[in-house]
Amino acid sequence: KTVEEEEVVGSKKFVKTNDTRKVKIRFKDLPISNYTSKGLQNAEYTKMTEVQRCAIPHALKGRDLMISSRTGSGKTLAYLVPLVEKLYRQRWSSLDGLGGLIIVPVRELAIQAFEVLRSFAGLHDLSAGMIIGGKLVQVEKNHIASMNILVATPGRLLQHMNETPLFDYDNLQTLVLDEVDRMLDMGFAEELSQIMRNLPMGRTQTLLFSATAKKSLQKLAKNVLKTDFTYFCMNSY
Ligand code: ADP
Ligand code: MG
Repeated sequence: KTVEEEEVVGSKKFVKTNDTRKVKIRFKDLPISNYTSKGLQNAEYTKMTEVQRCAIPHALKGRDLMISSRTGSGKTLAYLVPLVEKLYRQRWSSLDGLGGLIIVPVRELAIQAFEVLRSFAGLHDLSAGMIIGGKLVQVEKNHIASMNILVATPGRLLQHMNETPLFDYDNLQTLVLDEVDRMLDMGFAEELSQIMRNLPMGRTQTLLFSATAKKSLQKLAKNVLKTDFTYFCMNSY
């Protein structure tokens, strides 16, 4: 059973759907670069999972998304593929600074997301790094200015925003909040809103991902997203 609803709230159009019947099945059928396509193939990602089939085509069109789907459903590639493609399409270079920012609740998840990025995006000419607690702040400070993509935890990211003058995020293209439900549960709401106040949100594509669909998330989504496209993946691949 599929549902697709549109609701207009103020100037925003909220689309809710779980319809994946019409969308592509394989990564190589997507309108993506050869670098990404080859990279995914090399990493042995062939068929998209349900959440990837639903999210990626919309994200590639530049839409903001709020995606809730269960743990293990493949959310990481659902945001990394469109993030990398957006930078590729803009011919992003080292001179353009930070283009993609992924915020996750804890270091372990940052490392996991970074590994997924490495697994398929290596053919692109993009630099990527992590801003996570437990590493030397000074080491991060020295590298942060040259990074095109960063995976970060909220506290440490905010620390760099405040302390690292060379950290330039004025050009940010894509912001991802992954496991946003967990970040709210951990009490990061204030850090997240401070971070978003620093970022050029009006010009940035924003993708929110969670494992659950709670009311507090809907509120956050309505505040930060330009168009809110919610997809509730049940539990199938
Ligand atoms: P989530 O973030 O929703 O919990 P992950 O992105 O961590 O899910 O993916 C869960 C597992 O599924 C990982 O081991 C990942 O390698 C695998 N996976 C994700 N997408 C695909 C795919 N399209 N084909 C095969 N395996 C996939
Ligand atoms: Mg995940």
